[in-house]
Amino acid sequence: MFVRGWRVGIRPDPAAATTTAEPVPAAPTTAPDPAEYPAHDAAASTFDTSPIVGIDEALRLDAAAHEAGGSRAHQARAHEAAAEVLADRGEWRRAYQHLRAAMALVHLGDTPPVHVPEQLRREVDRLRRERAEAREQSRRDSLTATWNRRYLDERLSTLRDGSAEAVCVALVDVDHFKLVNDTYGHAIGDSVLRTLVTLMREGIDGPTPDGFCARYGGEEFALVLSGADPDDAVQTCERIRARVEEHDWTSIAPDLRVTVSVGVGCLEAGASDAAEAPTPTALDRVDELLYVAKRTGRNAVAFRDPTGTVRLAGPAAGRRGVEAVVRSVREAPRPGRIDR
Ligand code: GH3
Ligand code: MG
Ligand code: MG
Repeated sequence: MFVRGWRVGIRPDPAAATTTAEPVPAAPTTAPDPAEYPAHDAAASTFDTSPIVGIDEALRLDAAAHEAGGSRAHQARAHEAAAEVLADRGEWRRAYQHLRAAMALVHLGDTPPVHVPEQLRREVDRLRRERAEAREQSRRDSLTATWNRRYLDERLSTLRDGSAEAVCVALVDVDHFKLVNDTYGHAIGDSVLRTLVTLMREGIDGPTPDGFCARYGGEEFALVLSGADPDDAVQTCERIRARVEEHDWTSIAPDLRVTVSVGVGCLEAGASDAAEAPTPTALDRVDELLYVAKRTGRNAVAFRDPTGTVRLAGPAAGRRGVEAVVRSVREAPRPGRIDR
């Protein structure tokens, strides 16, 4: 079940992205002031908005050694950034104008930097923010505001970079959730999912600040527990399970009780897995553990100990028949899985 070498990147900061309803100004014909124009800081952004053309390479300039050239490079980069964000929004004509301005600067030799309108500087800045926000929104789940499956897939794929750092992932599924909907209605069910996400995020934040929660589909969630070793990951999941069980759900609906089942495993990129797509394989193994937790009575966390034996954490550890369930799960794949 181990896929070695996944590393979790910088934690996104949703507050970094804001937007305005300001109309887009007309396409500029001059370049921005390099001294004023804020350089793109990829590390401070939620998503990469780096330029597409490669002005620095085209100019092959060292700003310190060639002041005028470095200045042109800044201006060209600003036009290039404007072109990129406009193209991203489908505004091809204006994107083309900026691109042309960028390329003109690249080929102008020692033409001195022209005056830069404040308008362009603001426009590029705003377009970049809008673009970052749009990209972030496309990776959020609309019901719970947690990350969605797209974000999870992207993050997991970037974790396969040959690093020695493993990452533990849990799959969490609400027990008998259909019954919650049938008994209390879909709106209450939605409320349960939102509260559940809050509880899980609080449970992750303390022990694994670089971890995150993503909606995997329906009433199923993935918890990426970056930085946690296997023991810590099991303990974190067990605390989350207990926290969900002990939560006062009656504030949402009378007599409401909610529990979750969890499968947790640490994913490492092994040599044998490297040639195949490791993410589905690894998550399938975690999913098997989730199914074991379900089939042994629900409201439990299933994991493999260092010998590979499947166990249940916490109070569920004493349940009988785990081995038989593990055998039957291996023999008969789980029916009705989310298609991935
Ligand atoms: P189990 O313990 O085996 O997981 O049983 P279950 O009832 O939770 O599982 P089942 O797959 O039978 O039902 C899942 C239900 O989750 C059915 C579906 O309508 C509900 N569901 C999925 N997404 C949402 C949602 O966004 N909101 C609400 N209210 N319900 C949802
Ligand atoms: Mg369920
Ligand atoms: Mg389910």
